Amino acid sequence: MKKLLCLAVSLMLLCSATALAESLFTPGTYESVKKGFGGDVKVTVTVSDTEITDIAIEGESETPALGGVAVETLGPAILKAQTPNVDGLSGATVTSTAIIAAATEALTKAGADIAALDANRKDASEEAAKEEKTIDTEIVIVGAGGAGMAAAIMANQAGKDFVILEKMPYVGGNTTKATGGMNAAETHYQKEQGIEDSVELFAADTMKGGHDLNDPELVRTLAEQSAGAIDWLDSIGADLPKISFSGGASTNRIHAPADGSAVGNYLVDKFSAKLKELGVEVMLNTKATELIMEDGKIAGVKAEGPDAYYTINAKAVILATGGFGANEDMYTQYRPDLKGTVTTNAPGATGDGIVMAQAVGADLVDIEQIQLHPTVEQTTSMLITESVRGDGAILVNQSGHRFTNELLTRDAVSAAELAQEGQYAYIIFDQHLRDNLKAIEKYVKNGLTVQADTLEELARKLNIYPYFLTMTMNAWNEAVATQNDAAYGRTTGMNDNLTTPPYYAIQIAPGIHHTMGGVKIDTSAEVIDTNGNPIPGLFAAGEVTGGVHGGNRLGGNAVADIVIFGRIAAESAIEYVGK
Ligand code: ADP
Repeated sequence: MKKLLCLAVSLMLLCSATALAESLFTPGTYESVKKGFGGDVKVTVTVSDTEITDIAIEGESETPALGGVAVETLGPAILKAQTPNVDGLSGATVTSTAIIAAATEALTKAGADIAALDANRKDASEEAAKEEKTIDTEIVIVGAGGAGMAAAIMANQAGKDFVILEKMPYVGGNTTKATGGMNAAETHYQKEQGIEDSVELFAADTMKGGHDLNDPELVRTLAEQSAGAIDWLDSIGADLPKISFSGGASTNRIHAPADGSAVGNYLVDKFSAKLKELGVEVMLNTKATELIMEDGKIAGVKAEGPDAYYTINAKAVILATGGFGANEDMYTQYRPDLKGTVTTNAPGATGDGIVMAQAVGADLVDIEQIQLHPTVEQTTSMLITESVRGDGAILVNQSGHRFTNELLTRDAVSAAELAQEGQYAYIIFDQHLRDNLKAIEKYVKNGLTVQADTLEELARKLNIYPYFLTMTMNAWNEAVATQNDAAYGRTTGMNDNLTTPPYYAIQIAPGIHHTMGGVKIDTSAEVIDTNGNPIPGLFAAGEVTGGVHGGNRLGGNAVADIVIFGRIAAESAIEYVGK
């Protein structure tokens, strides 16, 4: 009897222990909302007693290309891992963190022990042995930013067999960061709008802007082919009809989308749509690791994808891998003085193409020429657009004094900031300016702005002696009234004074923006080796190359570079494989 009782008790204990082990959640649907990058992110999880069965993520984001990808990819990852603690999407940290935090909260509401979920994560042994795969094609395009996608459209239209690899889970690269437009001269839009311009003037402005370090032949090609590139963009539905003035140009030359939206995301969306329409699939999450050479000629690339290691045999390779502004080791190798500088770059900008090209003998040009952008918020690396200064904001240092003409070239303003105590400054503006510049809402929403009803209060919040800030602002408003900035000779961005409260400040410092140097190419986008000869079958376009921008890139010339040389690289590769 005693024995029987014992058995019953142990069975009960065993049963309840099993039940405990199996029941991870209280079945039902739970939700949680967290603050994302451009608004709220809502996560709704549905659980059975042992499993996360469904997850829905809703989030509006100001960077759909990135935040949108995080919204799409993290849900499946959480379902697969059966824990909310999955890897965030690099480049979309804020959105990823919000999704993971909201999923954690929702699952906690469902009674989950998150540590136990982590301990039992289901994707832990997923790094199963990858297959070895071989692909035979004519052309490999490495990188699906602006240059790579332009090349891919061309290759498709020429009926070539090709593959396009992108190491990130999304396309666009640094191209998505371009806010202004594309420089082009003698375009039909300029003619229709009565704007006089010439190829010669565009080339001269670009050389001057680049401190004459640029390769004049590449610059000439850029200028000559710019109007044709605008026509080509028209032909694929990516019109850039809105023309305005941009720093360093002698006339109105920068072409932007009709609605004034940022050119980078616009082109990436249009290029993606075109590729989709043409049935071209970008191999995402697939990183080229090495160029294959045979008998002194390019023979393909090695790459690594999520499930396989690839050997891609091809006659020609187009490197469109972008710059190296997101690779601190690499930029400090060439510019030790930039150690610790934040970057505005997309996370894929790690210089892979430069390293791969060098390994097969490519020469590099102007590799130490790195452009700093002077107004980058340092905790988020968010770029505060030039338009804030263009619309009338000023820069003050920690003592409350101006220290430069705020609208000098990016390198000059950055240098002036770095000469200030603490190597930072504040960008100051008022409500009137905020009302007229949409971009500012994003900065406010993300908590980057310090706001106050009076200048004295603003100064106190910034730890500046109020008297100095007030004096500075009075002097500036006087300069606007008389259109005479005796202190620093500023002549632009002086239409409106800064007198409408509340007042705003954002603390900023320089950030790495564009790597102007890179692989040496000729005007056919052939990569040139250290002996001055083309490497047969190797082509490159966009930020991976050097020579187009020299010592300083003009706003509007990065987009010109990727579209024009992306097309040239494709034309050259098409001709080469046709031989
Ligand atoms: P560009 O403006 O010259 O087109 P982007 O930065 O816009 O340059 O695009 C470069 C693209 O190349 C990015 O999307 C980046 O993630 C991708 N990329 C960089 N290195 C590799 C690599 N090793 N394999 C595949 N894609 C790469």
